[in-house]
Amino acid sequence: MMMNAVPDPTRPQQRPPHYAVVGSGISGLAAAVELCQKFASCQVEVFDAASEPGGVLGTAAEGGFQIERSADNFITTLPWGVELCHRLDLADSLITTNPEARRAFVVHRGKLRPLPDGFQMLAPTRWLPLALTPLLSPLGKIRAAAEFFLPPRRDDADESMADFARRRLGREVYQRLVEPLVTAVYGADTEKLSLLATLSRFREMEKRHRSLIRAMRVQMAERRKRARAAGGDSARFAESGARYSMFVTLRRGLRQLIEALVDRLPAGTLHLATPVEAVAPANGQWRLIFRDGAEILVDGVVLAVPAHAASAMTRQYLPQLSAKLGRIEYTGSTILAAAYRREDVRHALDGSGCVVPAVEKSPILAISFSSRKYPHVAPAGTVLLRIFAGGARRPDLVEQDESRLQGLLLPEVERLLSIQGRPLRTWVFRWRAAMPQYAVGHLDLLQEIRRELAGFPGLGLAGNGYFGVGMPHCIRSGQLAAARVAGQASADEFAPPPAF
Ligand SMILES: Cc1cc2nc3c(=O)[nH]c(=O)nc-3n(C[C@H](O)[C@H](O)[C@H](O)COP(=O)(O)OP(=O)(O)OC[C@H]3O[C@@H](n4cnc5c(N)ncnc54)[C@H](O)[C@@H]3O)c2cc1C
Repeated sequence: MMMNAVPDPTRPQQRPPHYAVVGSGISGLAAAVELCQKFASCQVEVFDAASEPGGVLGTAAEGGFQIERSADNFITTLPWGVELCHRLDLADSLITTNPEARRAFVVHRGKLRPLPDGFQMLAPTRWLPLALTPLLSPLGKIRAAAEFFLPPRRDDADESMADFARRRLGREVYQRLVEPLVTAVYGADTEKLSLLATLSRFREMEKRHRSLIRAMRVQMAERRKRARAAGGDSARFAESGARYSMFVTLRRGLRQLIEALVDRLPAGTLHLATPVEAVAPANGQWRLIFRDGAEILVDGVVLAVPAHAASAMTRQYLPQLSAKLGRIEYTGSTILAAAYRREDVRHALDGSGCVVPAVEKSPILAISFSSRKYPHVAPAGTVLLRIFAGGARRPDLVEQDESRLQGLLLPEVERLLSIQGRPLRTWVFRWRAAMPQYAVGHLDLLQEIRRELAGFPGLGLAGNGYFGVGMPHCIRSGQLAAARVAGQASADEFAPPPAF
């Protein structure tokens, strides 16, 4: 790394541009690879405080188990994840979820019940399964059906996910279905979570078709038509044009993606255990100040760190931007992974996992039946479960020690899944302040950030704090930030509208 470099203002045009990326999570690595591949003549350096690249992404491999440390797959209906895998020659390693484990369960009064077929996050696509589900009372079902006749909201104001779901489908559908499904994805408090920054397509559906139920019916009919025309199951048809299930992973786990990205970087690009303290504008360039006091000058910098970390780095020299970034809240997440003998688990595990509504008063948010979703992640005769806890519902859990977490979570998991024996082994992964909470008004805040950024063309922001928490959005945010600092994109492209 070039430390304490003194800029030579008389020579900026004579050397290739020098860019820095701060953060080597998926967003930062996507930005760095984009810079190296699309703007070939530049010099790129990536700095990360951690001793390993990947940020929250990573895969542990022990005793024949392959355990994801955070994300275990990504959605294919947004193109950027699959496209990146193709660009990295990883297409042959992409694997789809086990077709026999695609249904999910919801915990209801202490028991696992199947999620009604066709219920998609905020709305039913099919009526009969909703009418027959034991998850809702007769009154709850009648209230949900009334959605068909309710007038749509006319204005464009944001609202919380909870307000939207209760307004359209009633309190029971919200509590028993929407709240646990949304919490399992965002780890957020649904009373605060912005509808427009997360699942805006449901507001569009309401506006366009007057009712979600009506909109879902139209969409399903169109999908069936498309599937007939394509000669296959529409759910397997990814917008990227390839045929994948809705979610995919990589054979050796998501660390394979991180390794492939790092492999594409020229030697000497990645600097681990190198925390950045601050960034400062410096006469058309950028000064990067490291925690050990060293400094470098670069022509552009992508901050691919959580928004709170970007806020801390900009506090001294860009206080207005910093204040706005600091308004994006984050919460923690904890995963307890546990392996059992298959014979000790009475439940058929005939699904991908279960979600747990807040009304069940459980510390568990969700349980992923990892070895059912992806059978190769556990040796024959064993079962691998990943138990999600904490989030905005129990933020304290991320600090609990392993034995207390086990005592809190395992007895309930063992009761829910009728497990007789003790776990063969367990693993804990804690992510402090890793999941952004897009509060109501998040899109307005992004506009304010955009306006601040407009004055600093060499500065790019990437990561999960802005326009999507999932891996494909993070990848896209890195690519756009790279184009921006290389002078190939306008400030407006810092955050395209959510494309769910
Ligand atoms: C438990 C969990 C489960 C998830 N499941 C899924 C899933 O199934 N599918 C999906 O698509 N998404 C999932 N996500 C979301 C997705 O994984 C993340 O949003 C994404 O990986 C974030 O990537 P990132 O690069 O933006 O940030 P991070 O991975 O947080 O990386 C940021 C990097 O910045 C570095 N950094 C921070 N401060 C500094 C500093 N001062 N100096 C230098 N470096 C610094 C950090 O060390 C870190 O390496 C999940 C997230 C979590 C936490």
